[in-house]
Amino acid sequence: MSTFLSKRYMSLTPYTPGEQPQDQQYVKLNTNESPFPPSPLSQRLARQAAGDLQLYSDPECRKLIPVAAEALGVKEDQILFSNGSDEILNFAFMAFCDEDTPAVFPDISYGFYTVFADINRVPQKKIPLTEDFRIDPKDYYGAGGTVVIANPNAPTGIALSLEEIESILKANPGNVVIIDEAYVDFGCESAVGLIDKYKNLLVVQTCSKSRSLAGGRLGFAMGDKDLIRDLNTIKYSTNPYNVNSMTMAAGIGAFLDREYFDMCRERIMETRDYARKALEDLGFECLDSRSNFLFARHPGIDGEFLYMRCKEKGVLIRHFTLPRIKDFNRITIGTKEQMDILLKTVKEIMEEER
Ligand code: PMP
Repeated sequence: MSTFLSKRYMSLTPYTPGEQPQDQQYVKLNTNESPFPPSPLSQRLARQAAGDLQLYSDPECRKLIPVAAEALGVKEDQILFSNGSDEILNFAFMAFCDEDTPAVFPDISYGFYTVFADINRVPQKKIPLTEDFRIDPKDYYGAGGTVVIANPNAPTGIALSLEEIESILKANPGNVVIIDEAYVDFGCESAVGLIDKYKNLLVVQTCSKSRSLAGGRLGFAMGDKDLIRDLNTIKYSTNPYNVNSMTMAAGIGAFLDREYFDMCRERIMETRDYARKALEDLGFECLDSRSNFLFARHPGIDGEFLYMRCKEKGVLIRHFTLPRIKDFNRITIGTKEQMDILLKTVKEIMEEER
């Protein structure tokens, strides 16, 4: 820390992203990326856009918004794009939380929520998950602040039903409810169909997972046009050109190429079921994941030890040190071939320990 850092940020603990080794020597199952490349159309449009990079990107995303709005079934003034959904989540914490409006979220969820609350100096109320790692909707009734729920939750992968989400919306008419649907396309119901009915609902999604654009950084929020206008106020007060032209073009390709999108997510879901069964056959307990990862523990193997041994053997998975989940590892669903390498590696480790 320099002697110049503002007092405001001296005690800030930043988010720790998953490891991103640059040498390709790992089977990389640690940051929930897609194992599939972007759609061929995304790639082609991004390449074309590279020829115009001397110009600023369009702050209003006028070519992307109609295509995305059509694909997602929302109106054009109900959607806003950002540099990954992390950026739009931060905008939402800035816009909808303050000293009198805490952020209310589960004690085990996406680790960035705490950081967004801290950097914006917003009080936070963390609600424990149930014994079996579920979100109990009743715990969020009359939450007294801005509710932030990942659905499916991360890193558990467990989803709430649409009825449960709706019950939370009904029980918090005076506060914004943010549903972070980063993993919704892998077998979970989206709340986006409720945005006309509930003015307090903000649905956040990303192109990083199901649309294979993690490196492009493209996230978006959908909600009532007044909520979107508030987020635009924050966007135009921080970084109007937050989505670059190549990413915008790649996004257009990703939303147009519905067939590729469906093919990728179906393959991930099939491979998830395959890997879950194989892990359970090895004695693992896997939570009921509706996402592109499994959250798994084994009664006979320490979570951190398994992570370390897998890494030594060239397979990266994600371990968290939070006491309640330290026995688990989060394993991204890759291709079937990658999952077979993971399974073989885990078997070897178990045999070596016997
Ligand atoms: N929400 C959740 C629950 C996540 O796991 C992630 C990915 N780390 C994000 C949001 C942010 O993803 P991105 O910024 O790539 O859109």
